[in-house]
Amino acid sequence: MNYVVFDNGDAPYLKWLKENPEGYVLNTRRSRDSQFAMIHRATCPHITRPDIIAADGFTGHNDIKVCASTVDELVTFVRGYKAIAVGIVDPCGTCNATTEPIPFNQAAKNTRKPWTREEVLILLNLYEKIPFGLFHHGNPMLIDIATRMGRTPGSVAMKLSNLASLDDRLMARGIRGLSGASALDRKTWQEFQGHQDLLVPESEALLAELITGNADCQVDVQPERIAVPSHPEGLTESTASVKVRRGQRFFRQAVLNAYAGRCAVTGLPIRELLVASHIIPWSEAAEHRLDPQNGIALNALHDRAFDLGLITFDTDLRLICSKALKDHFTHATVAQHFKAYEGKPLAIPAEAAGPKPAYLEWHRREVFGKF
Ligand SMILES: [Zn+2]
Repeated sequence: MNYVVFDNGDAPYLKWLKENPEGYVLNTRRSRDSQFAMIHRATCPHITRPDIIAADGFTGHNDIKVCASTVDELVTFVRGYKAIAVGIVDPCGTCNATTEPIPFNQAAKNTRKPWTREEVLILLNLYEKIPFGLFHHGNPMLIDIATRMGRTPGSVAMKLSNLASLDDRLMARGIRGLSGASALDRKTWQEFQGHQDLLVPESEALLAELITGNADCQVDVQPERIAVPSHPEGLTESTASVKVRRGQRFFRQAVLNAYAGRCAVTGLPIRELLVASHIIPWSEAAEHRLDPQNGIALNALHDRAFDLGLITFDTDLRLICSKALKDHFTHATVAQHFKAYEGKPLAIPAEAAGPKPAYLEWHRREVFGKF
């Protein structure tokens, strides 16, 4: 293949343009990680007017130009040069060097395909498990998901931000996602939030299918990675218990991730020792079961104490100990694990919505002090 790379010096580049008016020019960033790539005709004003940009502005700084007599040769260059997994060569809108965007690898071929309900459900599942600040195309977890979906990481990150524009919890805190949610996004969002009992397990199955090829496998989504535990779940369970298990798995991941994988009372950072503690218990309110705002990340000891009503949290989210627990405060271990945290507020990351006040109110009324 015949192409010439012009890098750091506009004179030879401008000479080539003059000698090859029928040729084509690829404008791209020098960085092998950049997704930007556009093809122009050699006569296009955007890439031929040295008077309108700084000296060596075409081939210095971050940009390089690659020239060839055919578009195919430039696409071949991009395929070999770019280190990124997915990308598109866009035609210039002024000179229309090509009629269609040209993907430069397998995955990108499908970038413009319409979103399906199943894909939106998978992203809604992830939406509840990843902090808003990590919806960007550099998140390795999203790159993995995008590659498996045959989409670009940027399009997946953008879809998550579009979904954020539908989220009342973010709006309440003055955060707005990208506008541009589609009719499908809106419909699927409402379906997901309105029927968590059905849609959460379905989305867990779709996610597992995407990651492992098997809907019955379990996958553990953390903010920047997805782990597939080596010990799969039993496959002989009834449909009902599979659904319950999927729901519990979703709830645990959503809550632990919202609390950055730390106990909200003690800061303990070992996931294996943490519980996504229900504020209103699983058995009490089916409609709030899978709401991540009905959960607090607590270590196993404080989870048990919260579950039994030995501790609760006031309207400012400060820890309160029950009378029964206070009776044991003279014991050094009880003092160390409970008295020391009395009056201290739950540690909730700035990006997390935190527990819903109505749920905590219910806990104070129905569970606290009843032991
Ligand atoms: Zn052009």
